[in-house]
Amino acid sequence: MINYFKNIYQVSKALVQGMMVTGSWFFKPAVTVQFPREKLTTPERFRGALTFDKDTCTACNLCVKACPTACISLDPAVDPVSKKRMAKVSWYQIDFGKCNYCRLCEEACPTKPIKSVRHTHNYEWGMLERKEMFVKWTRETAVTSSAGSAVAPV
Ligand code: SF4
Ligand code: SF4
Repeated sequence: MINYFKNIYQVSKALVQGMMVTGSWFFKPAVTVQFPREKLTTPERFRGALTFDKDTCTACNLCVKACPTACISLDPAVDPVSKKRMAKVSWYQIDFGKCNYCRLCEEACPTKPIKSVRHTHNYEWGMLERKEMFVKWTRETAVTSSAGSAVAPV
């Protein structure tokens, strides 16, 4: 009989303690954000989707060498007359299925004042198929890949 009332006391005490925690938060402002209607401001060095600027890239290959997951590939443009390699890319591709958003490519990129490959603040994009994760920029076209349209410039 004593154990019966002891159990009731312990359960009631735990219930009140729990409700006190709930009550302490009840009148505080909500910390949740009603995404997508509301959005948090991302930090200055936030690493969102990568974007690429084909006009400033010099095809130096430093980002390719710096990338730890080998997800960047490019082909330098070749002068049609002299057949020499130009300081421009013919195409540039990132496999976002392998990218770990480490920023090493951006740090290695020597172009100034803006890096040719750089992170944006865009975190609102997704892909449904593996092939959509290959985003390619070419000299002639902007971005190819259905996912590419979500890679917003800074
Ligand atoms: S963020 Fe990292 S993993 Fe992604 S492309 Fe750049 S270097 Fe490679
Ligand atoms: S994006 Fe930057 S590091 Fe990569 S090839 Fe172009 S200039 Fe070089």
